[in-house]
Amino acid sequence: MNKATKRKNLSKKQRFEVFKRDQFTCQYCGKKAPDVVLHVDHIMPVSKGGSNRIANLVTSCIDCNLGKSNRLLSDKSAVEIQRKELDNQQERINQIKMMSDWCNSLIDVKSAEVDAVDSIFKNRTQCIMSDSGRKDIRKLLKKYSLSILLESTTCALDSYYDGDQGSWNAAFNKIGKIAKILIEPKHVQEFLKYCNYSKCHYSDYDTRRMQSLLTTNHGPLLKGVDFESLHTYGMHRQTFIDAVMDEIGLDENFEVKI
Ligand SMILES: [Zn+2]
Repeated sequence: MNKATKRKNLSKKQRFEVFKRDQFTCQYCGKKAPDVVLHVDHIMPVSKGGSNRIANLVTSCIDCNLGKSNRLLSDKSAVEIQRKELDNQQERINQIKMMSDWCNSLIDVKSAEVDAVDSIFKNRTQCIMSDSGRKDIRKLLKKYSLSILLESTTCALDSYYDGDQGSWNAAFNKIGKIAKILIEPKHVQEFLKYCNYSKCHYSDYDTRRMQSLLTTNHGPLLKGVDFESLHTYGMHRQTFIDAVMDEIGLDENFEVKI
């Protein structure tokens, strides 16, 4: 048997569904039952691969069904309307699927970024990051780019990790703080780096002076300052800040000396 002409008979229920949808009216000429005998017609013929799905079926009177070569369905026929609705629904389903794929791919990218930070820790310390650690990194990725976080992670491990669990945590906790410095201009980074070389705790006084030096008024003055030459080994932060302020011509009250 030729496959292309193979026809599966419509069930009584299918025929009823089509008639009901089309209100027992021929969709080509508008004649209604019981004035005419109604048939169910395939819009796309079975011989051309048309299916028995309801969207491919239409109510036709016997006359229209027999002379069907030149008939066109009006756009307003029930089957056309239903077909358009189905097309719209299918399009919505396709778009929802596309959106969900897109969201999932974003989740994949984020989790690959967390993996990248995690792998720096793993390579260096052989310890795996906990779920809450991964969550923290995820939060940092909302604030900083991956490249900044990779750099700050490496920097944190270089400066704070010495092989024990306590130092692992210390390094981990510094990632965000270092990232914050890394997005500053180079001269600010240099200034903060030398401030941090002084091992003593920050006093309120020093913190206030540092913040003042980093304001838009004074920050540009730090450009071109040779911090390395102003800093000596073991120097206290307060002395270093004094030296920087002196270098850029600021007095104790943060006023430019005339
Ligand atoms: Zn008709």
